[in-house]
Amino acid sequence: MHPPVDFYNIFSELTEDEQHIVNAWTDYLSNEVVPMINPWWEKGEFPKQLLPRMGEMFENTLSDGNGRFAEQSPLLAGVLSLELGRLEPSINTFTGVTLGLCGRSIDMFGSPEQKDRWLPDLLTAKAIGSWALTEPEAGSDAAMGLRTTAQRDGDDWVINGAKKWSGNATFADVNVIWARNLETGQVNGFLVELGTPGYTVEKLEGKIAKRCVENVLIGLDNVRVPAENRLPGVNSFRDVGRQLAAARAAVGWEACGVAMGAYEHALAYCKERKQFGKPIASYQMIQHQLVQMLGNITAMQGMLLQMAKQDAAEGAASHERASLAKAWCTAKMRETVAMARGVLGGNGILIENHVARLFADAEAVYSYEGSYEMNTLIVGRAITGHSAFV
Ligand SMILES: Cc1cc2nc3c(=O)[nH]c(=O)nc-3n(C[C@H](O)[C@H](O)[C@H](O)COP(=O)(O)OP(=O)(O)OC[C@H]3O[C@@H](n4cnc5c(N)ncnc54)[C@H](O)[C@@H]3O)c2cc1C
Repeated sequence: MHPPVDFYNIFSELTEDEQHIVNAWTDYLSNEVVPMINPWWEKGEFPKQLLPRMGEMFENTLSDGNGRFAEQSPLLAGVLSLELGRLEPSINTFTGVTLGLCGRSIDMFGSPEQKDRWLPDLLTAKAIGSWALTEPEAGSDAAMGLRTTAQRDGDDWVINGAKKWSGNATFADVNVIWARNLETGQVNGFLVELGTPGYTVEKLEGKIAKRCVENVLIGLDNVRVPAENRLPGVNSFRDVGRQLAAARAAVGWEACGVAMGAYEHALAYCKERKQFGKPIASYQMIQHQLVQMLGNITAMQGMLLQMAKQDAAEGAASHERASLAKAWCTAKMRETVAMARGVLGGNGILIENHVARLFADAEAVYSYEGSYEMNTLIVGRAITGHSAFV
């Protein structure tokens, strides 16, 4: 695998310990995941045989050794998303959902008992997590448009409704289900375990991006969970929003990684591929595209680095900064992967050359964690004082 493109030496900002953690992931993904992933991507299945080693990776790099998340600087969190996105975007989403969304929800909002029950297993991949906010009829407007309801009944909650997408849910042991509490009218979170009566999961087929991530349609038909399965730290959607800013920032980093991976493959290909007796890398129009890609990547890296520094200084991710990074980086990623695909000619649409996989996966990155438009409008509201979407 090529070293990551780093024209302005952005990665030198990591501490030595952080660099070791990133290197561990680079080696693991390059040696054990990238060489085997394409057939699984084509089949549209998550390769579960990766889980034991992935559990070791989680434990060695992301856990504090006591069943809780290790402290992580915003820069390290971001560069890990970037590196997973650069090498294998489906694995990045798998990890982002089981730990970044499910695990972090329990970490941020869970009771001590919920943390003890789930975090040690999630942080070793002995248990897998999912996270379900989006519904068939509620996507961009999920904050106010959730139809799924939770009704208190004695010592239980009874959940009814439907969910869509929810990564990993075909095999996830626990899913964080967001539902409207019928007493308060506010969004609450509930831990629902696979196999709970009334909780049904159907895999979405025919997906053209992130094909190793198993996305689903979920039915919730009088699903009964004990009162202690409600996440006590969430009383309204505003609480969930605190988690979403960090998740959006991570997707900005992922976008940069996907663009980097596509560029690196494209550059190597252009140096090898000969037409008219010379490497295509020697032609002006090819060089122009390679330099445009590099410019996009370097601009993304600079923006993301400064976002991480600012988040660290303020002690939290900011919604507006994360939304700008998510919207802008995913747009630049889309431009970059399209050029990378183009300079490979016909070979750019063959999965064996890897660029095709990154090109397709970029489409999911563009739409999830808030679409390009929604993140743009969040920034638009911040700078003008006018909301253009509600
Ligand atoms: C691969 C993948 C994995 C996912 N994983 C998960 C997951 O694990 N858990 C989960 O809960 N969700 C998940 N999602 C769902 C994702 O968050 C939603 O797809 C996203 O929020 C957009 O919602 P939507 O697809 O329903 O689009 P819609 O909300 O229907 O939007 C359609 C289009 O309309 C635009 N639009 C909507 N409202 C406005 C407006 N007011 N002004 C201007 N434009 C507007 C949007 O920007 C978009 O272009 C996943 C999605 C994908 C593709």
